[in-house]
Amino acid sequence: MSHAIHDFSAKLRQPGMLPNVQAYVSWRRAVRAARAQGEAEPPPPQQAPLSINLDLTTACNYRCDHCIDWDILNTKHKHAEEVLRESLAVMRERGLRSVIIIGGGEPTLYPGFVGFVAYLKELGLQVAIVSNGSRGDRLLECAQYLDEKDWIRLSLDSGSNELFEAMHKPVIRDLTLDTICEWMPRIKAANPRPRLGFSYIIVWGGASRDDVGLHENIDEIVMAAQRAKRYSFDYIAFKPVLERGDDGAEVMDPGKAQQELQAVVARIRANVDEAKKLDDDTFDVYESTNLRVLEAGNWSDYTRQPRECHMQALRQVLTPTGLFNCPAHRSVEKARIAEKDAYRDEGQVASTNDGLAQLLDRFDASVECAEVTCLYNPVNWWLEQMIEAEGDEPIPAGEEREDYFL
Ligand code: SF4
Repeated sequence: MSHAIHDFSAKLRQPGMLPNVQAYVSWRRAVRAARAQGEAEPPPPQQAPLSINLDLTTACNYRCDHCIDWDILNTKHKHAEEVLRESLAVMRERGLRSVIIIGGGEPTLYPGFVGFVAYLKELGLQVAIVSNGSRGDRLLECAQYLDEKDWIRLSLDSGSNELFEAMHKPVIRDLTLDTICEWMPRIKAANPRPRLGFSYIIVWGGASRDDVGLHENIDEIVMAAQRAKRYSFDYIAFKPVLERGDDGAEVMDPGKAQQELQAVVARIRANVDEAKKLDDDTFDVYESTNLRVLEAGNWSDYTRQPRECHMQALRQVLTPTGLFNCPAHRSVEKARIAEKDAYRDEGQVASTNDGLAQLLDRFDASVECAEVTCLYNPVNWWLEQMIEAEGDEPIPAGEEREDYFL
C-alpha cells in the first residue's frame, strides 16, 4: 500500500504508541547489558502488543485455491467469547491501540461478530475488518460503530463474476461479485466514516499453492478498479500472491516463475498503471510494497532480518489456536508465544511476557524469516539500531497521526 501506511517507524514514534515502544527498547538494552556483564536479566515490561491481528474463527464459506490459511480452515478451534472479551480489556489497559479482525477464517461468520466489533469500539480501540464480503448484512450492521480511522477491506481479487466464482468457490448459493459489491453503497450511506477497500491479490501462471493451479487474474486488474470505483469503495489495493513455504511461513517466491517473470511483471505494471488513471480525490489506487519490490527485483533486501524480530513484541496474532508472533507465521508451532487466553488476567500477562522473552531468544528471524519478504524489515532494523545505541537516550517523539495499525 502507500508509503504512509507502511512507514512503521513513524507510526511507532507517535505519542500514542511511543511509551510502550520505549519500554520495550529500554528492556532489550538492559537485557543485553546484563548479559554482557554476566548479571541477572531484568524482567520484561508487563505490556500488551500495540496492535493485533485477531482471527475470530477458523470457519470459512469459500474454498479459495490461493488461501494461505488453508491448513487451519474449518478446524474445531474456537474462542470462548468471555475470555476473549476479558483479554481485550486487559490488553487495552496495557497498551493495545488497534485490532485488525482478519483471517484464519471469515470473521463475519463468527456468531457474535457485530456485538464484538461494538465491544472493541467501546474499549476505545481502532478497528479494521478484512472480510470476504459474503456477509454484507453483517458488515452493514457493524458499520455504525466505526470511525474515520477504522476500515473494512474486502478480499475480492477479480473484476468479473465468472473469475470471482472460479477463484473463490463460495459455498453459498447466488453469491456473486455483483451481489457483494452492492452492499458497499448501502454501507457508505449508513456511515460514510470508515474507509472501504477492495483488495486484489495478483495471481499469475507459475505461482501455485501446493501445486494446485491458480487462476491468473492480471487481465481483470483494470476491470476491478473500475468496479471498485463504481461501487463506492474508497480504494483498491494490489499486491502479489504469497505462498506458504515448506515450514509454514508466508513467502513470496518469484524465483519459481523466473523465466517468465520479467514478462509477467511488465503485464502487471501496464495493467496497474492503467488502473491508476482512475485515482482521484474520491478514489485511491494503491500498490503494495511487495509489488514494487517484485518489480525492482530487490526482494532479497527484505529477507535479511535481524536475529531478534522486535515487531513480535509490538504486533501479535491472536487466533483460536493460540497467540503467535507474526501474521507470516500464523498458527505455526515454533512461532507460538502462548495459548489463546494469553492476556486474560495479570497472571497470564506475566507468563505471556516470559514466553515472549524466550521466543525473542529462540526464534532466530535471520533464519526463520530468511525467505519472507518482510514489510517490517526496515522498522525491525530501526529498532535494532535503537537498542544497540550508546546510553539510554529516549526515542524522539514524532507526529501524532492517530494511525495505530501495525
Ligand atoms: S522478521 Fe518479519 S516475517 Fe519474521 S517474524 Fe518478524 S515481522 Fe514476521
